[in-house]
This record gives sequence, C-alpha cells and structure tokens, in this order.
Amino acid sequence: MVTKRLYFENAYIKEFDARVQSCVEGKNGYEVVLDETAFFPEGGGQPADQGYLGQGEVTDVRDKKDYVLHICTKYLEPGTTVHGRLDWNRRFLHMQQHSGEHILSGMIHRMYGYDNIGFHMGKDFVTVDFSGLLTEEQIAEAEKQANAAVLADERILAEYPSGEVLEKLAYRSKKEIDGDIRIVTVPGADVCACCGTHVKRTGEIGPIKVTSSEHYKSGIRLTLQIGWMALNDYDTKQKNVKAVSKLLSAKPEEIGEAVQKQLDQMQELKQENIALKQRLFEMLLKEIPQGQEKAILFEAGLNAVEVRRLADLVSSRAGLAAVFSGSDSGGYKYVVCSQEKDVAALGKRMNQELNGRGGGKNPMIQGSLQAGEQAIRKFFQEHY
Ligand SMILES: [Zn+2]
Repeated sequence: MVTKRLYFENAYIKEFDARVQSCVEGKNGYEVVLDETAFFPEGGGQPADQGYLGQGEVTDVRDKKDYVLHICTKYLEPGTTVHGRLDWNRRFLHMQQHSGEHILSGMIHRMYGYDNIGFHMGKDFVTVDFSGLLTEEQIAEAEKQANAAVLADERILAEYPSGEVLEKLAYRSKKEIDGDIRIVTVPGADVCACCGTHVKRTGEIGPIKVTSSEHYKSGIRLTLQIGWMALNDYDTKQKNVKAVSKLLSAKPEEIGEAVQKQLDQMQELKQENIALKQRLFEMLLKEIPQGQEKAILFEAGLNAVEVRRLADLVSSRAGLAAVFSGSDSGGYKYVVCSQEKDVAALGKRMNQELNGRGGGKNPMIQGSLQAGEQAIRKFFQEHY
C-alpha cells in the first residue's frame, strides 16, 4: 500500500476526499489506510494531526514509510470514498512553530555554528536543544534576527533538489537518507532537510520568543513561544504583571524593583522581631530565680524554634524548664528540658494524659498537646 501525501504538495489542504484502502481493528481504534491524505503523521519533532474521517475521529496518525496509518474511532468500508477534515487550528499552530523553530535554529547555526540536536513541540511550548552553550546576549541577538526574518515576510520554499545540486548544497540536518531529500529554505535565514509542514510566508509565523534557557547535555536547551502560542503566553504574563502591579501599587515596568523593596522590608521586620523576642526572653528570665526547681511558661506567638530557644535559656536557671506556646482551642507546642529529671518518661505520660504527640530523649523533648493551660499546669503540679 502507498499513500500519496497531499501535505507535501500543499500544507494548506484542510479537507479532502480519498479512497479507503484498508481498515482493521487495532489496539487504539480502527487503523485506516487511504490512497491519499492531508493528515500529517508524527515525525521530525512535529506531532501528528487530528481531525475527522467521515464521522470518525482521527486521534493519531503514524508514518509507515510507504503509507500513512490513521487511527480512527469508526470503521470505514474499504473501497468507499471518505471525506477527511483536519483540526486546522491544531495543524496551523504546528506549522507556525515548526517554521519558527527552523528560522531560529538556522540563525543560531549561522551566527554561532551550533547544531540543533533535539526538537520537541509540546502543548504549551517548543524546546530546541543546541550542541553548544550560548550567552543571554547571544540568544537575544539570534532571537532578534529570527524576528527580523519573520517581518521580512519571505516565501518559504520546499523542494526536492537533484543529487548534483544537493551534493553542493549546504544545509542543516544532513543525514544519509535513501530517496528524495526535501529541502526547506527560508531565504536569508535557513536551509534544512525536513519532512514537516510549513507556512507559506515567514510573516504567518508571528512572534518568536525565547522564554528560558538551561544547560542540557554539553549544550543548551531553549524554550520557545512562537506565533499564537507566543501571544497566549504574552496574555498570561500580562495578566500576572497587572495583578502584581495592582497589589504593589507600582507601574508594570517597575514591579521587580517594588518586590525587592518589599523583600527588604520583610527582612528588616524579621530582624526587629528577633530583637524584640530576645528582649522578651530576657525579661522572662529575670523573673525566674536562679536554682528554682521548675519553671512552667506559657507564651503566645512563638514558633517552634523560639519555643526551643526559650526552653534552653530557662533550663540554665531552673531544674526543669517547660515552655508552651499556642492556645486552649488550637493546642500547644512544647519543649521540656531538664538535666536532673527524666523528661523522656514525662513526655510519654504527658502524651497519654494530655492528648499529645512527640517526645524525645533526655535531656530534651518536644511536641504538641491538645489540652488547655489549666490541665497542663495541673499535670505538672501533681506529677513533677
Ligand atoms: Zn523541520
């Protein structure tokens, strides 16, 4: 079986009629082969098309070398003619992204000599891997040149040059392939062997934006937003910038500075808080006579680290130091320490009688209790 690939002749065919050559039930649906098709099968980094064959939904399309396999939800009688309809929005996004990727890869190859060693078209972005590292400035320059090629609105050509011409031609993705090699050319930007679908003119691609870069293998991976996807991305970012700008009462172009100011202020407040807590702890300590048998302290608003620090300080003055922070309704976190008494045993008993969790080894235990202040004080009066 051989399928004529209509998308090679014209990537803009959205609907077509074809004869069903075969249809068998497979694992994921009916596997349909047509005498010709506009459905692009997955290949070269470009995902498969979707759409309809008659009333059946095409969920996947696969390249079987000589023929194209459509995975369809309905059975189609061999010998009959079926009407095919592509999910054109999906396909056009793929064309924008694929053509845009060629231009950026071509520019990076021309400007810095690196090869594209990986290409993935995702649902929300495109990633391209290059064989060498690039600085932020180099990426920005390549992006600028790529967008200039878009704005030049050049015609994109797909041809099958003769063997002689091909031999002398400098193009990307040069591999030993039998059969005709399809060369996709973007004048002034790129020449590349490719089996994908492309837009007619570069102007249809829309914006090409590199949104992030990371080291990958011995080179770099760039994340791209191209065409309609770039505009969607812009929209999302615009909404976020607006929201942050409103929250901080800062101009959109100054939100970075405004956030830094907030962080600095927060840092200052943290330092102030630490200093105030330190003063509070010193005052509390003064009230405990040196050598007191036990000291039970309830202090609201302390975090776990602070409870521990206070208990530590108190234990330098009292035989047993127990510090609680929290409330009767929400429970208390605690730290108990003693150099003299068995606080590990105390912890077990406390957990049982005061609905607690946690514990530890001598000389310090910590945890939380779901009990009121009165009950806790009574427990220490009676037992310790
Ligand atoms: Zn390609």
